[in-house]
Amino acid sequence: MQSKRPIYLDNNATTQVDPRVLEVAIHYMREEYGNAGSRTHEYGTKAKQAVAKARRIIAEAVKATPNDVIFTSGATESNNLAILGLAPYGLKSGKKHIITSPIEHKSVLEPIEHLEKQGFEVTYLPMDETGVVKAADVRDALRDDTLLVSVMHANNETGMIQPITEVADIIEAHPALLHTDAAQTFGKLIAPLQDPRIDLISISGHKLYAPKGVGCLIARNTNRARKHLTPLVWGGGQEGGLRPGTSPVHLIAALGRSVELAEAEHHERLNQCTLIRDELILSLSKCNPIIHGKGPHRLHNTLCFALPPYDADALILALKDDISISTGSACTSHSFSLSHVLSAMCIDEQHCEMSIRVSWSHNTGIDEISNVKWNMLTNNT
Ligand code: PMP
Repeated sequence: MQSKRPIYLDNNATTQVDPRVLEVAIHYMREEYGNAGSRTHEYGTKAKQAVAKARRIIAEAVKATPNDVIFTSGATESNNLAILGLAPYGLKSGKKHIITSPIEHKSVLEPIEHLEKQGFEVTYLPMDETGVVKAADVRDALRDDTLLVSVMHANNETGMIQPITEVADIIEAHPALLHTDAAQTFGKLIAPLQDPRIDLISISGHKLYAPKGVGCLIARNTNRARKHLTPLVWGGGQEGGLRPGTSPVHLIAALGRSVELAEAEHHERLNQCTLIRDELILSLSKCNPIIHGKGPHRLHNTLCFALPPYDADALILALKDDISISTGSACTSHSFSLSHVLSAMCIDEQHCEMSIRVSWSHNTGIDEISNVKWNMLTNNT
């Protein structure tokens, strides 16, 4: 008999594929396995139609046009394409200034650091314990030669939602391009992403119940962002030449289906995640948690906190048979280092080491959350 598995509370790292999405992926591997680039037979036509449908669904979700959608392997690649792909235009036009925040995902920070080494200048927006960028700081940082403003939509560690609409309003009349990493919000918090002033949006499928290995970059409006992008990979005309290579039709179709479901079930999912959050906060209340990030705008499925005096690793170990949680971003958890997000929020080293991230989904059982023994360590000592 299989032993009971811990409850999965690491949905910001990745999600379980929705069975309805899996069905679509299997169909495009088993039955309709044609190459979307094959023009001479029915298999190719069916594959091409599937890619076109997914493109349409994703574009409509953010009020973009299908041609604005560039399929990639995920948000890491989308972020790299948005940032490094603009560099040749920046060099040619003499616009070599970038504005970003210190709490971005590494797949934004590292390409920007790379450009810094090539002579670009970067302004890192101030950050404090709120975990939220201030739009006024973007206004102060803007220069005539600002090429790009890159501010994530919600932080993956704290769940704090960034004021992307206010940033878009502030740079309305400025020619700088606006990019947002929406890996944690696409399909969960879609309305702000419909703002036409947001030029570039990075999306990840596996945060949204689609398989790993697919995502996209939306480069809205051919005459703005897209015409300034240079591909990072060469050798084919797919995705308008911006991301050549045979399209993974099964993954793209699955991503389209997951977005369709996210839109149709938006309210139920949000309500369920809110109920779980309230239950979690209640179950934690006896343990005096220090919750990171301040203000009302937090993702409904994320909480990052410390339970002093317990070290995060000790807590994770003590609870490992009951729940699967992390200390922060899965992308950096293989090598121990303090969270750059919490450090930027001026949280001292000791409290960083105590911090854990809990991220749930609408499918997480509410009773399971209320039964977590957060005070386990306290009882044992
Ligand atoms: N940006 C953010 C905010 C993320 O949370 C992640 C995943 N941890 C990524 C980018 C990278 O996404 P992917 O795994 O699709 O490359």
